[in-house]
Amino acid sequence: MSLLQVKNLVVEFPGRRGTLRALDDVSFDIAPGEILGVVGESGAGKSLTGASIIGLLEPPGRIAGGEILLEGRRIDDLPFAELRKVRGRQIGAIFQDPLTSLNPLYTVGRQLTETIRTHLPVGQAEARERAIQLLRDTGIPAAEQRIDHHPHQFSGGMRQRVVIALALAAEPKLIVADEPTTALDVSIQAQIITLLKRICRERGAAVMLITHDMGVIAETCDRVAVMYAGRVAEIGPVHDVIHRPAHPYTAGLMACIPDMTQDRERLHQIDGAMPRLNAIPAGCAFHPRCDRAFDRCHAQRPDLMPAGTTRAACWLHAGTTGGAS
Ligand code: SF4
Ligand code: MG
Repeated sequence: MSLLQVKNLVVEFPGRRGTLRALDDVSFDIAPGEILGVVGESGAGKSLTGASIIGLLEPPGRIAGGEILLEGRRIDDLPFAELRKVRGRQIGAIFQDPLTSLNPLYTVGRQLTETIRTHLPVGQAEARERAIQLLRDTGIPAAEQRIDHHPHQFSGGMRQRVVIALALAAEPKLIVADEPTTALDVSIQAQIITLLKRICRERGAAVMLITHDMGVIAETCDRVAVMYAGRVAEIGPVHDVIHRPAHPYTAGLMACIPDMTQDRERLHQIDGAMPRLNAIPAGCAFHPRCDRAFDRCHAQRPDLMPAGTTRAACWLHAGTTGGAS
C-alpha cells in the first residue's frame, strides 16, 4: 500500500483580481521507504506541494480540491491540533534554512528530547540517550558534549545535521525535505544528501525530496516527479526519466545538465520562461515553449498518461496508451 497518496490536489490563492490556481490536479504517491524527488523551476509548485502535505500552507493559500492520505487516512481536512500531532509524529520536515526549524534560545538537546517525549512514550533519561544517538547517527562529533550547545554554536552544515536529527526524532514514516542543501556550501551539500539518504534508509523513512537540482535527484532518488506550472509533467523511475524522458519539458531539463549529456553540441537551455500563474496558456501549459507542439496541444490540457516506462502529461503519448503498458 502507498504510504502517501496525493490525489488531484488543487491549491488556490484568492486575491483582489481573482483566484490564482497554483496547483492544479497534482497526483502522485510515495511507497514506504521510497525516496521520491520533486524537481522543477522555481514557481512550478514544488514547495506548495510539500507545504500542503505537512499542513504548512501559508494563508491565503488554501487546498481547494483533492485529497492527501497518509496510510489511507485523510490528513488534508484534519483540524489543526490533530494535524499537528500527525505532522510531528508521522511526517518530519527539513527546510532550506536550518534556522527556521531550530529555536535559537534552546540547546539542541532540549529541542530533541522535547520532540522525542512529545511523540514517544519514553522518560527524560532515555530521551536524552536517543537524542545523543541521533546526533551521532547524523555525524556530529562529540555528540555527548554538543547536545548541550545552542544552534548558533554549530556551523551551517552541522546545523542542518541537527535539523535532520530533529526531523527523525519522532521516528516519522515520511520526511518532506524542501531544498535541504541549497543554503549550504557546495562542498557540504553532497555530504548532507548522502547522510539524509543513508539515515532514512536505515530508519525506514520515506523521503519527498524537493529540489531544483537534477544532479541531486539522480544520485538520491528512486522515482522523480517533474513539475511545471503547477502540474506534474512527468513521473517515473529516476533512471528512465533521465535517460528516456517522455515529456519535451523533461527532455529540455535533462539537456541543461552538462555532465549528463554526452553530446555537448546539443546542450541548450529551453527557450522562454515558465508562465506566470495568472497567465497559464490554454491546452498544454508548455506549448508556447515546446518545439513538438501540434494542434491538440493548444486546445486540450493533457493529463498524465502512460509513456513508455514513465507517465507524462503530453499528447505525444496519447496513441500509446493501450499498447505496451
Ligand atoms: Fe509539447 Fe504538446 Fe506534449 Fe505539451 S502536449 S509537451 S505542447 S507535445
Ligand atoms: Mg521552493
